[in-house]
Amino acid sequence: MGSATLFHLARRGLRVLGLERFDLVHEYGSSHGLTRIIRLAYWEHPTYVALLRRAYELWRELEGLAGEQLLHITGSVDAGPEGGAIFQGALKSSELHGLAHEVMDGDELHRRYPGYRLPKQIQCLYQPEGGFLLPERCDVAHVEQALALGAEVRCREEVLDWEANGGRVRVRTSRGSYEAGRLVICAGPWASKLIPALAGLAVPERQVLAWLQPTRPDRFRPAAFPVFNLEVEEGRFYGFPSCLIPGFKFGKYHHRGERVDPDTVNRNPEPEDEELLRAFARRYFPEGEGPTLMLKACIFTNTPDRHFILDRHPDHAEVLIAAACSGHGYKFCSVVGEVMANLVKEGRSRLDIGFFRLARFGERL
Ligand SMILES: Cc1cc2nc3c(=O)[nH]c(=O)nc-3n(C[C@H](O)[C@H](O)[C@H](O)COP(=O)(O)OP(=O)(O)OC[C@H]3O[C@@H](n4cnc5c(N)ncnc54)[C@H](O)[C@@H]3O)c2cc1C
Repeated sequence: MGSATLFHLARRGLRVLGLERFDLVHEYGSSHGLTRIIRLAYWEHPTYVALLRRAYELWRELEGLAGEQLLHITGSVDAGPEGGAIFQGALKSSELHGLAHEVMDGDELHRRYPGYRLPKQIQCLYQPEGGFLLPERCDVAHVEQALALGAEVRCREEVLDWEANGGRVRVRTSRGSYEAGRLVICAGPWASKLIPALAGLAVPERQVLAWLQPTRPDRFRPAAFPVFNLEVEEGRFYGFPSCLIPGFKFGKYHHRGERVDPDTVNRNPEPEDEELLRAFARRYFPEGEGPTLMLKACIFTNTPDRHFILDRHPDHAEVLIAAACSGHGYKFCSVVGEVMANLVKEGRSRLDIGFFRLARFGERL
């Protein structure tokens, strides 16, 4: 979110500084792990679809500027029981927004994409524009383009605190202090440390991802395997074809329900983490359940309603917040960067972001 915001601010001709406490690319936050799903048939809420259309445009534009492929189209599958949140939500978004889609049962999905072995009664919505992004490359591309436009970036420089007064903002870091007209805070799991008003509204949660070697690698290549969101009796899961490393990648939403502090979270995947994931693959993707290639811990930052926070600070109009994307925000980084830049430069977003306002949490603020 920060690198995209940096790029869009630089593009508007503003003098802009990006501060990062770790390295330009690192594994302590929420954006590492080689791939992130992007999908249009948004089961979480149809409101996201307008933002997604713009996000796709901006990712394509960034690819052009960077001269590399960042977005891979595989199609997406949103599947579960007929009355479940994922299938019904994806269907609603597709119908409301006139998205191309097909509905099929688990048997038909297996005929088309043999890596999938879902029970026949599972309802599957296939949407051809789904796919995945390469997050580390996308972050670097945003930063590279921002630098070319004159932005400054300083890594290994931690923001310690900030204050806003009379239309100016002062930021104190581990290396110095800065003054600016506006501050955009995109601190991922650290959001509530920099914005105490978000305590209880932006809650970090530990996640673990697995990459297992398929016994039939041909069935897990991008051309043969759409990305998925799947609701089964074990919970909600998401997964990807193999890319960059030869492993079927997947994870469970809200893995083991562990609320954590990002400064002390256990980043070491444990045997229980692996077994939970492996049991899922054994049942629904048996040819994807070969030896382990990689396990990674990562952090979600959840709001109570699992929707994002894109807004001004409740007490300081000079401070803007992009936070708590609740485990589904990466695909939106490109458009969130544009939204934040419009809020800074023009005072308002051209896209409707009313759904993401902090005021929805009422007196919890
Ligand atoms: C396992 C996993 C799988 C996911 N899968 C998907 C998916 O398939 N599709 C999807 O769309 N989304 C997915 N998400 C969600 C998505 O990745 C996140 O919503 C998104 O990456 C959040 O980006 P961010 O910029 O808010 O946070 P981050 O990427 O964590 O960035 C915040 C940055 O702020 C820096 N920072 C924090 N505090 C300070 C400070 N005091 N001073 C200086 N710098 C600071 C951090 O070091 C960090 O680099 C997934 C998340 C996880 C964890």
